[in-house]
Amino acid sequence: VGVLVDPVRRLDNFIRLWQEGYTGFIRAMELLEEEPDIVDRPGAVPLSTVQGQIGFRNVSFAYEGAPRVLSGLDLDIEAGQFVALVGPSGVGKSTLCSLIPRFYDVDEGAVLLDGRDVRDVTLDCLRASVGIVQQDVYLFSGSVMENLRYGRLDASDDEILAAARAANAHEFILALPDGYNTDIGQRGVKLSGGQKQRLTIARAFLKNPPVLIFDEATSALDNESERAVQQALLGLAKGRTTIVIAHRLSTVRHADRILVLTHDGIVEDGKHEALMAAGGVYAALHSVQGRI
Ligand code: ADP
Ligand code: MG
Repeated sequence: VGVLVDPVRRLDNFIRLWQEGYTGFIRAMELLEEEPDIVDRPGAVPLSTVQGQIGFRNVSFAYEGAPRVLSGLDLDIEAGQFVALVGPSGVGKSTLCSLIPRFYDVDEGAVLLDGRDVRDVTLDCLRASVGIVQQDVYLFSGSVMENLRYGRLDASDDEILAAARAANAHEFILALPDGYNTDIGQRGVKLSGGQKQRLTIARAFLKNPPVLIFDEATSALDNESERAVQQALLGLAKGRTTIVIAHRLSTVRHADRILVLTHDGIVEDGKHEALMAAGGVYAALHSVQGRI
């Protein structure tokens, strides 16, 4: 990894984008999150239609100056599959997922989207194809409407309402002091963890990507919230490839396939019943923690 990019130039880009206004602001935020050496390869092309098939071929990855997180990892996920990724904290679940939209590049091997090395796909196409719903929900000061529109900047108000309904968020939004105009974010009203997750699910509905990565909240949600988030997630997963970093039994039970990641790589791969019967790592995770 490790191409040094002039930090002053990076800051300069940031300020320039900031001054471009709202769209620029979004791109500026992305720039801050992005590794500076991740750019389009010469000859990178957009994919015309994305089915959502994902492959890892002998992938190794380490953060700079740190030990390897992933080593010789192989994995194939069919288009439209719903995959739960589980395993102890710190084994590289989030890292594995972050390689798909190229938040980082592999050190060895390749990550494939529809059989093509993601480094040969334009970043614009890649980032449009992969939606990420993260644990740390990014909400800025502004109305619910503005925060939802972050999912797709040209979405109409009607489309935003439809997405909020699909995400099981419409009801609680209407119950806020000013409904969709309520200010949220740092200076606005406080939302529960489950409510925030549903807002990001609504954003993902608006974005409508063929591949979805969902980093499930580790913190407990109350039962009602958990059910609402679960339903919204299942609706969102329909018709697209979905990888959930899962911490809840209700999620893994719905999965077509559960992958168990440990420091030794993917050690188990199957459905809930089969993995429980096998009495391995997955079964142990259940009995030790009561959750995954
Ligand atoms: P998990 O999602 O399974 O909990 P992560 O993928 O977040 O695991 O982290 C895997 C390992 O990489 C951990 O040791 C973590 O401390 C380290 N790590 C995660 N993100 C970074 C980063 N941005 N820079 C350096 N090390 C990181
Ligand atoms: Mg993680």
